Amino acid sequence: MSEIKGYIHSIQSLGTLDGPGVRFVVFLQGCNLRCKCCHNPDTWECGGKEYTPEEIVSRVLRFREYFGRDGGITLSGGEPLLQADFARRVFEMCHGEGINTCLDTSGSVLNEKTKSLLEHTDRVLLDIKYTNDADYRENAGCSMRAPMDFLKYLNEKSIPTTLRQVIIPTVNDGEENILALRDIVKAHACVDKVELLPFRKICQVKYDNMGIEFPFGHLPEPTRDKMAELEGMLR
Ligand code: SF4
Repeated sequence: MSEIKGYIHSIQSLGTLDGPGVRFVVFLQGCNLRCKCCHNPDTWECGGKEYTPEEIVSRVLRFREYFGRDGGITLSGGEPLLQADFARRVFEMCHGEGINTCLDTSGSVLNEKTKSLLEHTDRVLLDIKYTNDADYRENAGCSMRAPMDFLKYLNEKSIPTTLRQVIIPTVNDGEENILALRDIVKAHACVDKVELLPFRKICQVKYDNMGIEFPFGHLPEPTRDKMAELEGMLR
């Protein structure tokens, strides 16, 4: 058995929202950012249940008949790049079984370990949270340079990439942001899909249970019409 352990928050056996097709989604524990819109604050701190890569892959294999042509495994979080050794081993083993691998990340860590993980990654779901550095620093806790360097690397390696952005009323739902996002897409040939996701506040209960403030809890959720308008602008 492997010496490498992963710290897992939770597992969704058959997910359809995090990557192509039907996917086995593993949410890793621990995150280096503190996004004010975060819907998983319970994944921030390190800890969680320990699994070996073998334990995860044996569970994935039980669901392989549901994956079809496009599905597979997605590692999400939290931030899976913080457990790059574990994630790389899981993906490497999945590739050995012919299972598609997908990484859902903020793209805030690029080093030799995360580059090694990307060698076994079939698709990246990259959250581009904002399109300017001030918003990144104010609302996510890192500079915009980190995800942009990550995206540049994905482009160099031609790793298929889905860009995702959570649309938050009054913060990033303006035309300027969408046009800037469009420019980012155009400049990176690896990006073959863009998803705008509506900001949701269903996570308020998690903040309440943790006894901490939901920083964007006072903001409204975007309307369906607004999302459609922004989608139109993006295309
Ligand atoms: S990167 Fe994701 S998990 Fe981490 S704080 Fe931001 S939204 Fe939450």
